[in-house]
Amino acid sequence: MNEETTATARRISSIVMIVIIVVLALSLSALYQAYDMFINEDPTMGYYLLIGFIGLALSTYMLLQTRRRMRRFTLKTPPITTTITCSKCGFKNVRDFERGDFIFKKLDSCSKCEGTMTISAIYREVKEKGKEHKIFG
Ligand SMILES: [Zn+2]
Repeated sequence: MNEETTATARRISSIVMIVIIVVLALSLSALYQAYDMFINEDPTMGYYLLIGFIGLALSTYMLLQTRRRMRRFTLKTPPITTTITCSKCGFKNVRDFERGDFIFKKLDSCSKCEGTMTISAIYREVKEKGKEHKIFG
């Protein structure tokens, strides 16, 4: 369905995850260095301590940001709509796509005339695409 978007999102998140892990490892080593300096009573220990804590805060922030962005990715997916039409009276019913829906599939009888309801169309709503084209055109 939306494999391209999911693949892109997954690729971005894996790169971000590597960056987060690297920053986390660097900040942990900086903290370890600070601990080593603390034992040796080195006055520059404060810098390493600062770098370590900034790194930890940065990686945590990035992790939270990525999670939020991923949620937005899934929200943007346009919904798939199924149109059901009565073959007798032409009564139309629109609902969300359900697993197992296909065109010409026979469903329950019509609520108006007891005729058979058939799926006449399955489509994805792309209202936003027109706007995007206007911005770039
Ligand atoms: Zn009908």
